[in-house]
Amino acid sequence: MSAALIGDGERAGSAAVAATAALAARVGRVRGRMEELGVDVLLLSHGADLPWLTGYRAMPLERLTLLVLPVSGDPVLVVPGLEAPRVADANGLFDLLPWSDAEDPIDLVVNLVGQSSAARLALSDRAWATTAFALQRRLPAAEWVEASRVTSPLRAIKDDHEVAALRAAGAAADRVADVLQSGGIPMIGRTEAEVSARIGSMLISEGHSNVNFAIVGSGPNAASPHHEPGERVIGREETVVCDFGGTLSLDGGPGYCSDITRTVVTGTPTAEVAQCYAVLREAQHAAVAAAVAGVTAESVDRVARDVIDSADYGHLFVHRTGHGIGIEEHEDPYLVVGNETVLVPGHAFSVEPGIYQPGRFGMRLEDIVVIGADGQPESLNNADHGLVVVDV
Ligand code: ZN
Ligand code: ZN
Ligand code: ZN
Repeated sequence: MSAALIGDGERAGSAAVAATAALAARVGRVRGRMEELGVDVLLLSHGADLPWLTGYRAMPLERLTLLVLPVSGDPVLVVPGLEAPRVADANGLFDLLPWSDAEDPIDLVVNLVGQSSAARLALSDRAWATTAFALQRRLPAAEWVEASRVTSPLRAIKDDHEVAALRAAGAAADRVADVLQSGGIPMIGRTEAEVSARIGSMLISEGHSNVNFAIVGSGPNAASPHHEPGERVIGREETVVCDFGGTLSLDGGPGYCSDITRTVVTGTPTAEVAQCYAVLREAQHAAVAAAVAGVTAESVDRVARDVIDSADYGHLFVHRTGHGIGIEEHEDPYLVVGNETVLVPGHAFSVEPGIYQPGRFGMRLEDIVVIGADGQPESLNNADHGLVVVDV
């Protein structure tokens, strides 16, 4: 191979020792699970697994970036030469193998993987199909599995660094929700798109590095859970679902997501809206309280659903109760029927039931919750849970 391998010593020094220790611990856990699953080599390209394991987020370029992590032996990050300066110093966690445009990076990967005929290889779920097919052609005897089989259950359980990052992101989102609920964002007479832009810029000013989404659905649009905010002008006495979140990094690393929903009403709510909201709030609180270590993810979904069902709104709660959250906005564990994953300390997820009256109004209440070392749920969002009137 013609590309030069850059050793550890040349890049040692700048990463925080504690952060590096956390990454090293993750590599150890990944290797343990590779052994359990009989995976010989883990190959990580685009997606959240790579930054979770190395602190480096690859840009979604057509050029190949691939961490080659054998179950034993040194991991090597194959990276386009022009990206090499952006790779964070990993204090010897992996070697860097930059490739030039005159080289075929698949050659480098095949050399690193070796030609063992019985190899079981795990490739990033988010790798390009071009990468997957090129590797399959060059390693025809290998058995392929998704990298998430190795990484997802590990990534779902957050370590102390990750919980601290999620807590900071949640607090920043809460500050935006506080301004929204105290009437600091004019609603009546504004378009959904204007309110969405305002929320987005506040997420940034509260410390997020980027905005992942800022859903604003007013009036009948509030009944569409993932409504794209548009030119509809917000009127009086409407419910407005505001669901927003971004990515916040405490240490210059990959960053962790916030995700919060508050529903406000632009004037006195009707009795029907107030009644629906009381049910929604009870469902959300009951589900958070039920999210303790030892129960299944689906049982938390069922708790929220039972409250809404018994008020005869069950057919209007059209999505799962929640999703895991971390480097990605949506990741394991999902709070959904059929998910028998047993919750343990470190699991972090949204609890976000909704009630949607098609063509009329809708509402959702969402907090991020993490299960603490004591097995109890900790809500990372604490903005007012009421149906706040925002008469501006
Ligand atoms: Zn969603
Ligand atoms: Zn949300
Ligand atoms: Zn969510």
